[in-house]
Amino acid sequence: MIIKAPKGTKDILPSEINDWYRIENIAKEIFKKANIKEIRTPIFEDTSLFERGVGDTTDIVNKEMYTFIKSDRSLTLRPENTAGTVRAYLEHNLYRESQPVKLWYKGPMFRYERPQAGRQRQFHQIGVEMFGVQDASIDAECIMIAVELLNKLGLKDLTVEINSLGCNTCRKEYKEVLKKTIAPFLSGLCQDCQSRFEKNPLRILDCKNEECNKLFEENNLRNKLTTINLCDECGTHYEKLKKYLNELNIKYVENPFLVRGLDYYTKTVFEIKSNNLGSQNAVCGGGRYDGLVETLGGSHTPAVGWAMGMERLNSLLDKISGEKIKFYVVSDNQLEAVKLTQKLREQGFGCEFDYNSRKFAKQLEKAAKTAEYAIILGEEEIKNNFYTVKNLNNSEQKKLSFDEVLTL
Ligand code: ATP
Ligand code: MG
Repeated sequence: MIIKAPKGTKDILPSEINDWYRIENIAKEIFKKANIKEIRTPIFEDTSLFERGVGDTTDIVNKEMYTFIKSDRSLTLRPENTAGTVRAYLEHNLYRESQPVKLWYKGPMFRYERPQAGRQRQFHQIGVEMFGVQDASIDAECIMIAVELLNKLGLKDLTVEINSLGCNTCRKEYKEVLKKTIAPFLSGLCQDCQSRFEKNPLRILDCKNEECNKLFEENNLRNKLTTINLCDECGTHYEKLKKYLNELNIKYVENPFLVRGLDYYTKTVFEIKSNNLGSQNAVCGGGRYDGLVETLGGSHTPAVGWAMGMERLNSLLDKISGEKIKFYVVSDNQLEAVKLTQKLREQGFGCEFDYNSRKFAKQLEKAAKTAEYAIILGEEEIKNNFYTVKNLNNSEQKKLSFDEVLTL
């Protein structure tokens, strides 16, 4: 019996790899222009990093972590990369370099979720984290970079949703208001929301459970909920962000009920949604996390970032067809074929030959699938030192010298 890839994981096949390179290459260009440097952190970390960093009232920590014990140490496959980036930032004193420190990452993340379209157990994120700036101009830059990337990838029909969750002070008050409004309906909410009610009532607004959504709708709960009352500082910060976005011509929608799945967000939160994806429609999520560096043992450091789901991005993009190499040598003389292949590769061209000296018709078939030109190297060509080159796009055939082949 053939062993299959574990549930919730997917192979990325050679026919798909160029789609991934496209995202990475466009992102790299944008990050370079913005002076954002790449960081690569380990795929597993101490479990406590995520318990403290992501927060032990989140779904990620409560239900979704791949945790294992080795030599009495509890380790976890990273479910996201912000906590790991902050850990590295502190461990290597990156803050000693001039602020802000702007970093990006890409790679696999692991969450034990129910697999469905747009939701896997091993998936990939590309993301940025920026440390050391309090001003809303960096929140705006952060959103600007995400929007630039999505636009450069050719994605249309996107909605940028923004909100401010305020600081601990504004939030404390809001949590009480929220609890009061929700309390009469509590018994109808899902088990998760019932436990969120005491621990982290804001997260009830982010519940994906259909029953909860129905109950919210039927009782018109969203309209009954007052929106967060921001303190002066948080209010000014949010107004500034909107002014920057307006000036930058970045269209956004304010969603006063946008909270995010992770505990660490303060002030700005945002999500970019595609109107072409089904229920898993968020391609990018992020926000400000001014408390996280301190939570993980550093000194108070304002920070903001985002992460995009690369599988979801890919599902929105046209597929790139497989790339062809330049030459395919068609010959019944393997020695001459491999020698010519070596010469052409030395000159910087992609080249392959037929290893089995099959019939020329068969070799030409393979050449048409593999390359732009077939170089036919038969007895006559070898004897008279020329090459019959067939353009595999238009079937034009020419007799050329080696130097002429190099000009193709
Ligand atoms: P969702 O609400 O869709 O579960 P999230 O709030 O858990 O998202 P984040 O932790 O902010 O998501 O991750 C940022 C992005 O990573 C998401 O917008 C999404 O595109 C992608 N993502 C998150 N979880 C998965 C998953 N299990 N499979 C594929 N992509 C994912
Ligand atoms: Mg999630």
